[in-house]
Amino acid sequence: MKKVSIYRPTTVDEAMQILTEHGTKAAVYAGGTDLLIRLKNRLEQAPSFLVDIKKIDHLRYIKEDAQGGVEIGAATKIAELAESKLLAQKYPMLVEAVNKISSPELRNASTIAGDLLQEVWCQYLRGGYSCWRNGGYLCYGAIGDNSYYHSAMGGRLCYAVYPGDAATALIPYDARAKLATPQGEKELLIEQLVPGDMQVDGKIQSHVVRSNEILTSVVIPPPRPGFKASFEKLRPRGVWDFAMASCAMGFHLNGKTIDDARVVFGGISGKPYRETAVEAFLKGKTLSDDLGEQAVAIALANAAPLKYNATKIDMAKGLLASGIARLSA
Ligand SMILES: Cc1cc2nc3c(=O)[nH]c(=O)nc-3n(C[C@H](O)[C@H](O)[C@H](O)COP(=O)(O)OP(=O)(O)OC[C@H]3O[C@@H](n4cnc5c(N)ncnc54)[C@H](O)[C@@H]3O)c2cc1C
Ligand code: SF4
Repeated sequence: MKKVSIYRPTTVDEAMQILTEHGTKAAVYAGGTDLLIRLKNRLEQAPSFLVDIKKIDHLRYIKEDAQGGVEIGAATKIAELAESKLLAQKYPMLVEAVNKISSPELRNASTIAGDLLQEVWCQYLRGGYSCWRNGGYLCYGAIGDNSYYHSAMGGRLCYAVYPGDAATALIPYDARAKLATPQGEKELLIEQLVPGDMQVDGKIQSHVVRSNEILTSVVIPPPRPGFKASFEKLRPRGVWDFAMASCAMGFHLNGKTIDDARVVFGGISGKPYRETAVEAFLKGKTLSDDLGEQAVAIALANAAPLKYNATKIDMAKGLLASGIARLSA
């Protein structure tokens, strides 16, 4: 394992100071289920200084806010989300989605912020290849086996898919992330948080969080009357595995009419892929038996599969149809 030094700050300000001091050589250490694997595999890009946030008070909670929405502390375990009665009552689709993340053991260790900000799981990066994300100048995923961990929707430098399920499921709820930064607090929509394949502080990453910033909580607005949502995920095995494709949807319904829609695909692109063409098509439509078929006909027109992953697009379209059927029932 790569040698590291660990800090255990007790406040967010202290943690930010340490992160600022060490720049890109330091990283927040939450559950460690992603970070420790990168260290174990001695990735060039893995940090040398870990800032363990588990001793910081007030980062682990799920609470209702004054507006009737819910705020989730960044260090809250995925298992705690999966078991939360409050979340199940207000946002059942989110609870369904987090229950499909990895395995019970991993959900006990992983945090919501870690899931949102996790590194990609491309086998070349994780195997220590010197690719764009690991200090090199090449993408092996674009030319090698790209059947599982790679984008079927194009890419810039890196072709890895964004792997997290929580972000895909949070976007239909218009959820936001709160960040502590040296300049003060800032808030971003989840889709702004993980725009995919960005250069941030000289590193390629899927999210916009700078090396001295800390995600402190996720805020979900109150559920609106008439809102129905679904989450579908296809993976090789029923536990452990990442999405080959997933689809999270949210419909604002007025009777059987769709007033507004959110359609987000996971597992097929470098970011949770919001399919705005399908959203626009669905707006104003009445739920019907052939609506799924019509939506599939216009979905993912920008697909750009690599040599071995065109099947991801077929899977995503199938999930779109089954999600619409579920919401129409
Ligand atoms: C076998 C396996 C299967 C998996 N399957 C799935 C799956 O199906 N779906 C899915 O969504 N995920 C899956 N994962 C990923 C897993 O959910 C993540 O590894 C986990 O959520 C990361 O959380 P953590 O608390 O352990 O983060 P860590 O490993 O501690 O950190 C992950 C990253 O986030 C950063 N970070 C963490 N917290 C903060 C914060 N508060 N502020 C700023 N930066 C922060 C860290 O610096 C690091 O870069 C799987 C992982 C494994 C090993
Ligand atoms: S897809 Fe990304 S992580 Fe994988 S080899 Fe290419 S640059 Fe590296």
